[in-house]
Amino acid sequence: MAKILVTGGAGFIGSHLCDYLLRNGNDVLCVDNLFSGAKDNIRSLLANPYFEFIRHDIIHPFFAEVDQIYHLACPASPVHYQYNPIKTIKTNVMGTINMLGLAKRIKARILLASTSEVYGNPGIHPQPETYWGNVNPVGLRSCYDEGKRVAETLMMDYHRQNHVAIRIVRIFNTYGPRMAINDGRVISNFIVQALRNEDLTVYGDGNQTRSFCYISDLVEGMVRMMETSDTIGPINLGNPNEKSILEIAKKILTMTGSKSRIVYNSLPSDDPERRCPDISLARRILNWQPRVSLEEGLEKTIQYFKTKLNRSDSLENR
Ligand code: NAD
Ligand code: UDP
Repeated sequence: MAKILVTGGAGFIGSHLCDYLLRNGNDVLCVDNLFSGAKDNIRSLLANPYFEFIRHDIIHPFFAEVDQIYHLACPASPVHYQYNPIKTIKTNVMGTINMLGLAKRIKARILLASTSEVYGNPGIHPQPETYWGNVNPVGLRSCYDEGKRVAETLMMDYHRQNHVAIRIVRIFNTYGPRMAINDGRVISNFIVQALRNEDLTVYGDGNQTRSFCYISDLVEGMVRMMETSDTIGPINLGNPNEKSILEIAKKILTMTGSKSRIVYNSLPSDDPERRCPDISLARRILNWQPRVSLEEGLEKTIQYFKTKLNRSDSLENR
């Protein structure tokens, strides 16, 4: 049994990771300030004697004795990370320094949840780990993109200078149950809009692409990366099944049987035109590739939001 700290453990990905780690016999300490996460995501774990939750903001130092640290704390949706951009940078820079300082002191292995956003609006397609990216350093997305780029730099410098055992994963768009209703990301927005028979808001002409990975596949890849001794990364984790945003909107309309219309809103600044991971490295080194199809993953996510919306609507009507 390993003692494992998960920062951002009450968020979408973090809560699924906590589930997985507990199922596999570990002792899990979840640290989260609940900015974009929720106690609801970890409610079923609170009675587990091998699970602990601590409300803490990682821009302040934190101390615990653990064997591994999964460092996920950072708002991930553009709406959330642009709400307070200075806080987003602080979380990425000061938070990562605090976690690396902890890893150094207690000799723990640390994995950073980095992002495909380090490639910015990519000039190479699909994106391999060797691509250095095309990021606007002064735009609205920079607090997140540059924040994660600095976090990667910090990881590498603590590794080279202090021999901290690091792992860096670059996560591409991931979706599934427990995304927040007000999260603002495309899959949750479209499903919630479709289920409420509201207009589906496509930004721009909808020809921009993303490649969507289902949550269980991602968690499997993250754990394999933490456990491997063959690489420190960075390594891409994502589903190479590239789709346009308009295709996603139409698919969700069909799958929900919704009467919603598609409307076109303006494209946010610096919105990447194309994104698709080259996962050759993860295939070779981790023997990992996504297994859940888009249809299967969307079906599970739609079911989740149906239940969640029913519950929140009936609470409102009380
Ligand atoms: P999320 O917003 O659901 O989870 C982030 C969690 O971190 C939340 O629970 C939030 O409350 C917590 N948090 C934020 N700032 C904090 C702070 N200062 N101190 C303590 N806790 C803090 O997002 P997610 O989708 O679960 O993303 C998790 C990680 O994965 C993030 O680091 C994100 O950058 C990365 N990632 C996610 C995706 C994706 O598609 N979901 C893609 C690329 C990278
Ligand atoms: N998007 C959209 N409508 C929405 C939300 C997002 O068309 O209601 C678009 C957004 O402009 C982007 C893509 O969907 O091109 C993915 O957006 P998301 O915020 O999910 O993730 P990211 O831009 O970080 O990849």
